[in-house]
Amino acid sequence: SQMVYTFGGGVRHDDPRAKDKNLLGGKGANLGEMASIGLPVPPGFTITTEECVRYLKEGSDFSESLRAEVDKALNHIEKTVGKDFGDAADPLLVSVRSGARVSMPGMMDTVLNLGLNDQTVEGLAKVSGDDRFAWDSYRRFIQMYSDVVLGLDHGLFEEALEIAKEENGYFADTEMTADNWRALVDEYKSIVKQEQNGTPFPQEVKEQLWGAIAAVFDSWDSDRAKVYRRLNDIPGDWGTAVNVQAMVFGNMGDTSATGVAFTRDPATGVKEYYGEYLVNAQGEDVVAGIRTPQYLTKAAREASGATAPSMEEAMPDAYKELAEVFELLEQHYKDMQDIEFTVERGKLWMLQTRNGKRTAAAALKLAVDMVGEGLIDEKTAVLRVDPMALDQLLHPTLDPEASRDVLTTGLPASPGAASGKIVLDADTAESWAERGESVILCRVETSPEDIHGMHAAKGILTARGGMTSHAAVVARGMGRPCVSGASAVSIDRKTRTLRIGDHELKEGEIITLDGANGQVMAGKVPTIEPRLEGNFATLMKWADSHRRMGVRTNAETPADCAMAREFGAEGIGLCRTEHMFFDANRISAVREMILAESEEGRRKALAKLLPEQRKDFVDILECMAGLPCTIRLLDPPLHEFLPTGDAEFAELADITGFGVDHLKRRAEELHEFNPMLGHRGCRLGITYPEIYEMQARAIFEAACDVAEKSGEAPVPEVMIPLVGTKRELEILRKLVNDTAADVFREKGRELDYLVGTMIELPRAALMAGEIAEEARFFSFGTNDLTQTTLGVSRDDAGRFLSTYVEKGIYARDPFVSLDVEGVGQLVSLAAERGRATRPDIKLGICGEHGGDPASIAFCEETGLDYVSASPYRVPIARLAAAQAAL
Ligand code: ADP
Ligand code: MG
Ligand code: MG
Repeated sequence: SQMVYTFGGGVRHDDPRAKDKNLLGGKGANLGEMASIGLPVPPGFTITTEECVRYLKEGSDFSESLRAEVDKALNHIEKTVGKDFGDAADPLLVSVRSGARVSMPGMMDTVLNLGLNDQTVEGLAKVSGDDRFAWDSYRRFIQMYSDVVLGLDHGLFEEALEIAKEENGYFADTEMTADNWRALVDEYKSIVKQEQNGTPFPQEVKEQLWGAIAAVFDSWDSDRAKVYRRLNDIPGDWGTAVNVQAMVFGNMGDTSATGVAFTRDPATGVKEYYGEYLVNAQGEDVVAGIRTPQYLTKAAREASGATAPSMEEAMPDAYKELAEVFELLEQHYKDMQDIEFTVERGKLWMLQTRNGKRTAAAALKLAVDMVGEGLIDEKTAVLRVDPMALDQLLHPTLDPEASRDVLTTGLPASPGAASGKIVLDADTAESWAERGESVILCRVETSPEDIHGMHAAKGILTARGGMTSHAAVVARGMGRPCVSGASAVSIDRKTRTLRIGDHELKEGEIITLDGANGQVMAGKVPTIEPRLEGNFATLMKWADSHRRMGVRTNAETPADCAMAREFGAEGIGLCRTEHMFFDANRISAVREMILAESEEGRRKALAKLLPEQRKDFVDILECMAGLPCTIRLLDPPLHEFLPTGDAEFAELADITGFGVDHLKRRAEELHEFNPMLGHRGCRLGITYPEIYEMQARAIFEAACDVAEKSGEAPVPEVMIPLVGTKRELEILRKLVNDTAADVFREKGRELDYLVGTMIELPRAALMAGEIAEEARFFSFGTNDLTQTTLGVSRDDAGRFLSTYVEKGIYARDPFVSLDVEGVGQLVSLAAERGRATRPDIKLGICGEHGGDPASIAFCEETGLDYVSASPYRVPIARLAAAQAAL
């Protein structure tokens, strides 16, 4: 099948493959699409990702047929532009660009100005009438090619340039003359020759081209690309396409420029053109932060107080054309676009477009606004917002009332607030974060090598670089707050200090960033809880109207319940009762109960706990008024509650009247080798029925009290954990029913309630048909079910699971995203068998997976009735459940 697709110059493809992003990569497919809707795109061609995969698999060789297709496509460019590749009089120059299925900003390498050599540079100088431009382009080419293709240290070239500037007494690159560049090219060529043990810089243009194509293919497997893929769950077998495109020049003097722009503000979603440009510059200059870019629009320049003219003011014609292109692109793609453009001697050229990365707040605003504008419908809006991105909005923000000790203000590159310790490099960020510290990564500017540190950090601060710098783009993508271009900041790596004006801060001191306004503050600024309002609330309402599954929460305190209700929880899917036992006032009664040697002793201690438990349940049932609440009876192994240390034993001896030695011996008896598979869950209820009896009594008494007080009867769902056999549930259900009957008799009122079980052992899943005879509901406890099915201890898996994920043994951490292939089978099978026995059985999930979008999609497929997630994940679950249903 066809390996190379041309674009520009009026070509039309009938082949649907020519529009396929998977095959041509995002960049290639969009270049073709822009050209086909009549936008000014320099002609070029795209080599498919299929070829990349083949090349990497078959040992880095190009086939004859590929070479032939490339020759033909190159000919298409030559004809369209009217220049020949390698022509000494008037050479065609091209860029060689990578472009995977999804954009991987800065991850892959691009070579510009390819086709220059000692002869063609003279031709370029003559044709352009600009010696300086020609020699500047040539030195840029040697520099990039040597770095990307030949793998030479780019520091050598930067150093040579610095020396050249110094010798001439220059400050900026723009002061270099044609002769200076010419001299530098000689210098560069000798560096190449020396570094390659005598092999000179390639003069043959075809050799240059194939070298660059190979380098782009190879860059798919570079370390930084691998890191990015791992962080973003991008499969390693997609490969990248290669785009070869005729060069246009933004560095041909003051009527030329290059820039990047968004059709709307990617940080806030506000409908304003947003971007930066640089006069007399090429490609990467804007992103790299070498020179400070200028604003695109007059309004933005004025708002910032900058004096350098905006593009709207300096190049009104090209700007007007660009604004028209923005409108066209939004109408066409029906989404906010992120664009690269170049102006060559007043003429506008489009070099890239893609759906722009955005913050969560912007994503919500864009979705809601575009529905309002009639650009998209509600369903599309619901599908467009990444549920996980909402996480950014669900965390505390800086308290507007709190006082702020503002050290300096940079650019508000990525919103959100973060406090943490200053760290000055990515490796330190990673290692401090690993030991549980919150860190703020502070750099002069970031590069793709810093990705792991940016990921580990709570926030990012840079001294240089604009709103579209690497730091800003990556931080927005990761949802990390970022302040960029804080020029008052200087960093001294030797003394490990950060200087801001006359403040000197050591690495490890705490600062706070406000990514919404660019402020950098000393110390930790207090925060407030988020609220669900405005666009967020609107989108959630749309999502709810498309959602089939219910969304509940895992909560056990009134504060969590209140938060979860604020976020739209429709009940409690898992109320753990063990945490209530850890309360300082109660723990001694719990210990007394555990260490008692007789039922009588246990009952004495339990009697002290009963009123406390009842109060817990009253609080929760009141807070969740009218909504279903699943309460799980005691689950963890008893030894977790045992006293540790002599002081605790002494205290307990005082309370119980037993001697310390006796208590220590009892504690020893409770020791287990493998407590997670030991005396826990319903096994406690089987061996010490009085514990579950007390809990059941507390639940029903609380329910009666709440019904009495509020007039609205709660419907408690009593959940028995870790059941593996029908008989266990039969015994314990009877215990719960008998207790309920007693309480109702005493209180003189009957309430509805359900008894059900968790499915968290493979045996329970297999025997679900039988177990359902005793259970009104199943709740899949997928944490334990994963643990028991995989035979992997969740508490110990940290040591090897990341290696497993790296080696592709599990695609994702199975404790984060449900192992649908394996554990998922047990879930479907149990759901099916349970329903066969009891068609109206209620099915839900209460493991961590209940807040993970991929797992939620699986729950929808399996037809579960609800998912349950921690309070902060409730909105994520609501949106993910809606998307799964659409
Ligand atoms: P990235 O994916 O890192 O942005 P690109 O392939 O988009 O890499 O290119 C890097 C820079 O070079 C961009 O600023 C782009 O606009 C510019 N560029 C790429 N091709 C050309 C070209 N044919 N003419 C002029 N500039 C180009
Ligand atoms: Mg680009
Ligand atoms: Mg469990």
